[in-house]
Amino acid sequence: MTAPSRPPSVDSLARSLNSSGLPHPICVDVARAAIEAGDPDSAARRADEFRRTLLTPVVNATGVLLHTNLGRAPLAHHQDASAQTVEFNLDTGQRGSRQAAVGQLYARLCGAEAAMVVNNNAAAVLLVVAALAAGKDVPVSRGESVEIGGSFRVPEVIEQSGARLVDVGTTNRTRLRDYEAAITRANVDAAMVLKVHPSNYRVEGFVEETSIADLATLDVPVVADIGSGLIDATVPWMKGAPPAWLAGEPAAVQAIADGADLITFSADKLLGGPQAGIIAGRADLVERCLQHPLARALRPGGLVLAALQRIALIYLDRQAGTEIPFWKMVGTPLVALEERAAAVVEAIVAVHPSARVERTEALPGAGSAPGVTMPSVGVVIDGDLLEQLRRHDTPVIARSRDDRTSLDFRSVDPADDVTIVAALRGGA
Ligand SMILES: *Cc1c(COP(=O)(O)O)cnc(C)c1O
Repeated sequence: MTAPSRPPSVDSLARSLNSSGLPHPICVDVARAAIEAGDPDSAARRADEFRRTLLTPVVNATGVLLHTNLGRAPLAHHQDASAQTVEFNLDTGQRGSRQAAVGQLYARLCGAEAAMVVNNNAAAVLLVVAALAAGKDVPVSRGESVEIGGSFRVPEVIEQSGARLVDVGTTNRTRLRDYEAAITRANVDAAMVLKVHPSNYRVEGFVEETSIADLATLDVPVVADIGSGLIDATVPWMKGAPPAWLAGEPAAVQAIADGADLITFSADKLLGGPQAGIIAGRADLVERCLQHPLARALRPGGLVLAALQRIALIYLDRQAGTEIPFWKMVGTPLVALEERAAAVVEAIVAVHPSARVERTEALPGAGSAPGVTMPSVGVVIDGDLLEQLRRHDTPVIARSRDDRTSLDFRSVDPADDVTIVAALRGGA
């Protein structure tokens, strides 16, 4: 038996990890941890594990187009290191408003008097309720007092805004006269009513909700959290009739036209933009939101503002169907998906003889249009290949069920088909 060799020094082990591409201080941490664990040989594996905790581009082959865990709407945005007019007025040479450019564009897009942006829709609702109703009451239908995406809970947001929730109607049916009764109750000081699109949740059967048009007859402002950010229910940027799966999604233009005083929505769902929240509606109410101290804490930076501006200009140009990745995915004809899937099967069938093209059902995702699917096409392979696919250089995220792996092509950019082929050939 030979005496155990002395463990390598932290420094030399860290230097041996240089090829991992990780910064030296991280290599030192990893090397130290490996030595402390009495297993210096694990350093390379630990470095790899660390690398895999970093944000990494992946191929989304789940068929969930707006996958919250994968960053919702895919978006290309490149920006040079130059200064930009984030808060600068080119006419006066003085300080300007960072909300002016995007504000006017989203107002125009929604058919509203004014608009502003914050970091996400949760922030938008928080700010609107704080600015309009702090210290006062906010009637909400019991059917809309929902939790969305785990941590956005309507009663808690209202409480955090400093307002009081007043429950209206019942879980399944809430009528205009329920709101009227709530607003005129002696002990209620209603500053607004809040209508919330339940997004990822649906009550069916004996149900009734009160429309924005009916709520607009009340004496207090109507704020509608429409959630997904569909700009126009007629979807003028797509050829043909609006896709069937969109029926029932509230849209910004129609909500404003129906009389909502303010609407809020996410920018990274059906809008197809970066993470942000849009507030649009009456100029005096938007102004109150802009003036509230929370507005400063919730404001996005120049990167997001520039991306939002680009998205708005694309919509106004009616180019969303061809220029916004989400809508391009939605609009891809089935035959195009079939051709791509067939080409992938042909490229991998020698390695995976069970590979075949199958009709699948893709989902909009991000809580939009719950329970509805859009026709799609996938490659299905026997066995669970999820881990192998995740371990590829550019990880591929697929789905598995009943010991079959399914890769849906509607959520995949055609340029990534080669990555799917390489990942499937990979370790098999
Ligand atoms: C998604 C959603 C939210 C939360 O939006 P974020 O942009 O994720 O903060 C709030 N309300 C509704 C109705 C939603 O659909």
